[in-house]
Amino acid sequence: MTRRSNGVDTICPHLLTGHDPRFGVWWLETLTGREKEVLLLLGTGLGNRELARQLGIAERTVKAHIANIVEKIGQTTRTQAAIVSALAHDALCSDPSCARHPVPVPGQRRPAAA
Ligand SMILES: [Zn+2]
Repeated sequence: MTRRSNGVDTICPHLLTGHDPRFGVWWLETLTGREKEVLLLLGTGLGNRELARQLGIAERTVKAHIANIVEKIGQTTRTQAAIVSALAHDALCSDPSCARHPVPVPGQRRPAAA
């Protein structure tokens, strides 16, 4: 087995645990429009109270949406769903002014622009 020389000698946790949050992205189309909106906001790391305020709905409704989202995208926690949200931001965010770009990792080459 070859290891990348990133200065850290680790086994890939996705291989180790069998849980890869990218798989959650495959299930995004099972979500309703409102659930996609909640998931997009969940990716910001906001708590339920702030999500409720942002969406103009009750906190218990936010909790219900998150429970449905977590189950539909095959995750077990809201944190895992938030990771899926971050991975799928480009698919979830429809704001034409969104300027989100991949975060460069020091010491790694950036992929060539398409
Ligand atoms: Zn965006």
